[in-house]
Amino acid sequence: MSSGYEGNDSHPHETSLSDILKANCGESVLKCYQCGKCSAGCPLASEMDIAPSMLIRKIQTRLKVHEDSVLSSYAIWLCLTCETCVSRCPKEVDLPKIMDFLREESLKRNMVNPKAKDILAFHNSFLESVKYTGRLYEVGMVGAYKLRTWHFLQDLLVAPKLFLKGKLGLLPHLIKGNLKIRNLFDRITGKKED
Ligand code: SF4
Ligand code: SF4
Repeated sequence: MSSGYEGNDSHPHETSLSDILKANCGESVLKCYQCGKCSAGCPLASEMDIAPSMLIRKIQTRLKVHEDSVLSSYAIWLCLTCETCVSRCPKEVDLPKIMDFLREESLKRNMVNPKAKDILAFHNSFLESVKYTGRLYEVGMVGAYKLRTWHFLQDLLVAPKLFLKGKLGLLPHLIKGNLKIRNLFDRITGKKED
């Protein structure tokens, strides 16, 4: 059975990433006329393997070979959602929204760039903390991150300083209605029906 996005490397295919993006987020990459202002202002562009404007261009081509390079890029995991690009874009292309969509799609298709595994571990640890306590529980999040990445010694000397300044609570503070937040996460991830 077709997954809907297979295609010949050099010909546009039927259900392109551009179409799925438009259907899911309402964003059209066709608005972009490649002025490059987003890449020029992006604070992370120099670290990215594909600059923001080039990511858009690749999606515009509707070619699977370019779409795959976008979905397996490191760049989509480096985006900070700082919104500098949107504020500069003359066509109001919402790049942070597009980056969010691309990360989700990359996960769904099992195409996450190996260099991004620590970033993904951070995302998962952060969301897990919010899911179970309703807010960020720093100590729990850092513990979960270290267990996922095995970076047990990283930033170890910072923790006592933060603790002495009262920035780290040893125990989590549950918010009122935290079970509702947990149910929300379960519904979004399909572990619970509506
Ligand atoms: S600033 Fe906007 S129009 Fe210019 S390249 Fe970036 S996304 Fe395209
Ligand atoms: S939102 Fe992402 S792509 Fe846009 S400028 Fe910030 S880091 Fe770069």
